[in-house]
Amino acid sequence: MNIILLGPPGAGKGTQAKRLEQERGMVQLSTGDMLRAAVKAGTPTGIQAKAVMDAGELVSDAIVSGIIGERLDMEDTLKGAIFDGYPRTAAQAESLDVLLSERGRQLDFVIELEVNEDALVERVEGRFTCANCGEGYHDKFKLPKVEGTCDVCGHHEFKRRPDDNAETVRTRMAEYRAKTAPILPFYEAKGLVKKVDGMADIAEVGAQIDAILDGKA
Ligand SMILES: [Zn+2]
Repeated sequence: MNIILLGPPGAGKGTQAKRLEQERGMVQLSTGDMLRAAVKAGTPTGIQAKAVMDAGELVSDAIVSGIIGERLDMEDTLKGAIFDGYPRTAAQAESLDVLLSERGRQLDFVIELEVNEDALVERVEGRFTCANCGEGYHDKFKLPKVEGTCDVCGHHEFKRRPDDNAETVRTRMAEYRAKTAPILPFYEAKGLVKKVDGMADIAEVGAQIDAILDGKA
């Protein structure tokens, strides 16, 4: 089972990838990690990549493909790979198909954790925590029972993270859309894209993903 997992920040992609690794023995493959590992291990493609990076140039698609191919030849990927941050273009998506089919494997699903942007903004913008014990609160969904007093420790100071604001959330969403726009149509045309409600709670998101992987959704 080989999948691409897509989702904007806040959709819980990292949590789900980790769970799939633990429960199904799949491995998450991010290009950055693979590149660093190949350079460190001095694999044939890693040596090429190092030369290019040392010259201050960008690593080409051919080198990235080489690195992914080398990684897919390692036994721990046989139970399944979760591609993260790759492919980014239709050309890379086609290369990935070739890399997998050369090894008698295929891409099974592209799972996208969908979020409602306005709801995500509302969720993030209203967050605050107790400055003393860290208990989480929300302007709309979970106010302290006594105004200005932490339910847990009775402290009176609260804090908000500066990046918990609408502008940051909307910028991240726009970046995410720009990154996935080139590849979603490619996989939609192949009927591989499955959407999961990334706004649901963690267990529910996990259940939806499992149903897809088990062929029940
Ligand atoms: Zn507290």
